[in-house]
Formats: sequence, C-alpha cells, structure tokens
Amino acid sequence: MAAKIIDGKAISASVKEQVKAEIERDGLDIGLAVVIVGDDPASRVYVNNKKKACELCGIKSYEYALPAETSEEQLLELVDTLNADGKVNGILVQLPLPEHINEKKVIERISPKKDVDAFHETNVGRIMIGNFAFLPCTPAGCMELIHSTGVEVSGKNCVVIGRSNIVGKPMAMLLLHENGTVTVCHSKTKNLSEVCRSADILVAAVGRANFVTADMVKDGAVVIDVGINRLENGKLCGDVKFDEVSEKAGFITPVPGGVGPMTIAMLMRNTVTAWRIQHEE
Ligand code: NDP
Repeated sequence: MAAKIIDGKAISASVKEQVKAEIERDGLDIGLAVVIVGDDPASRVYVNNKKKACELCGIKSYEYALPAETSEEQLLELVDTLNADGKVNGILVQLPLPEHINEKKVIERISPKKDVDAFHETNVGRIMIGNFAFLPCTPAGCMELIHSTGVEVSGKNCVVIGRSNIVGKPMAMLLLHENGTVTVCHSKTKNLSEVCRSADILVAAVGRANFVTADMVKDGAVVIDVGINRLENGKLCGDVKFDEVSEKAGFITPVPGGVGPMTIAMLMRNTVTAWRIQHEE
C-alpha cells in the first residue's frame, strides 16, 4: 500500500501561523539577525527563505551579508555587537563559513540566550540532559513531522542514519527523550540495511541521493528524509529513493516539501522562545 505523504509545507505553514498569532496576541517586538559570509548560492537561498518567514510571522529580520574575505576577528566583533543589541533576540550565522574562519569559535561567541540554532555547547549540553530551551531546528522539525503521523515514538525502534552534530546526534537524543529505542548509524556501521529494516521510525540524514532503498525499509515504517541533494539536472532530491520507498513505508516525507520548510518554521518558534528567555524576570 502506498505511504501517506507527510506534508511538511502545510505543517510548517501552520506552525508559522501559530507563531504569528502568538506575536500578535502578546504584542511582541522581536528581531532575528542573520549573518551570511561569502556568496554560497545554497546559503543565499536559505537566508532568503528565513527572511521571508520572518516577514510572514512578524519578526524583524536584520541581514548582514559580509564578503568572503571578512576576517574571523571582524565576524567575532559583529557577533559581540549583536549579542549586546537589545533589538536582536536571535542570532543565526549561516554555515558553512569560509575556510579561514573557525566555525566553532564563532558559534561559541554567540550568547546561548540568542543561539536560535541551538549549536552553542551550552545548548547542546542542555539537550543531552533534557533540560533545553532551544531545540536544533532540523531535528525539532522532524519530531513535529513524526508527531503529525499520530505514531507514538515511545517503545518504537528508531534508526537515525547520520551522526552529525547538527542533525544526526540531536535527532537521536530527541527520539530518546520520547522513549524511542534508538540506533545511530554512520559510515562504519555494519549490516546497515538490516539495521534500517528493524526501524519503525527511520530518519535519513546522510547527504547521499537515493541512499535508502525499499529493501532497507520495514513495511509501514515512518520515513523522514532530511537529505537535500542536488542532482546533475539541477533537481533537488532526498536521501530516500522516494518512488520505491513510498510503496512500502506507512508515512514518508517528500523532498522538497518535507523537512526543509519545517527547519525554518522551528527557527521562527525558537526566536520567540529567545525573546521570552531574554525577558524572563
Ligand atoms: P554530514 O555530512 O555532516 O553527516 C552525514 C552523516 O552521514 C555522517 O554521520 C556520515 O557518517 C553518514 N554517512 C555518510 N555516508 C554513509 C554511508 N555510506 N553509510 C552510513 N552513513 C553514512 O551531513 P549533515 O548531517 O549536515 O546533513 C545530512 C543531510 O541533511 C545533507 O544532505 C544536508 O544537506 C541535509 N540537511 C538538511 C536540512 C534541512 O533543513 N532539511 C538541514 C541540515 C542538513 P560518518 O560520521 O561516519 O562520516
């Protein structure tokens, strides 16, 4: 039987509507600073989408488009300025940064209270112990998509392919917090297909087009495809071979229109959370 398609676009639109309604209801004056260094075309698209989402939700966006030759010192100075700016509630530095800039150093310079990506070590640590203010946007978006299916995570076999700090690892933690039995796979995993076939909930965050094939998927599984891969013909495609897996899974996210829009909706939600944290008595 064909899988139900999880409509990330519609779910993200409803999250943004909720955020907008909350901002209007409470009359919040919220600002998000987005910093982009260099002219990576994919980063440019993400930054523009974030700007559009801010407009829709009623969040002021402050964009800092810096040339590729910006020094690390200059970028750190900008982060310091934004940390001190009361109009700016969230700071997002678009990754990747040019090679001469130490990403880790820049992330650690962002105030944890303005770290709407939840990449700062303080926020990462808080996710680990389950006492978090911000959730990283992509894994948080994946959780919303899983919740939308009505499938309970508790007690389920959950397999995450990928162990990056921004997707795979936090995704595994969020599933664990909801009492999933979690396996994290990576490039050294043995019997990957077999492990994946045990998954009631399968999250693919590999970065390889059509990596997950139908023989790796259990009948009726929830399949969340985080991958964004550009094919030679210019088309976007996920990590999951959609045509065949959608014949076997119970629920599946498309690419585009699945996890991508959710990431941005979660960023909007985190920016409101940031405002609230900064205005706590
Ligand atoms: P990384 O490259 O940092 O991580 C990829 C992971 O996949 C690594 O852990 C790697 O293992 C694992 N991997 C690679 N090859 C294999 C293999 N043959 N078998 C098993 N595991 C393998 O990527 P990210 O986590 O940053 O991103 C993953 C994908 O998600 C990308 O396509 C990215 O574009 C997309 N993405 C989408 C977002 C969205 O909003 N939709 C947001 C962020 C990312 P190892 O650690 O052993 O090298």
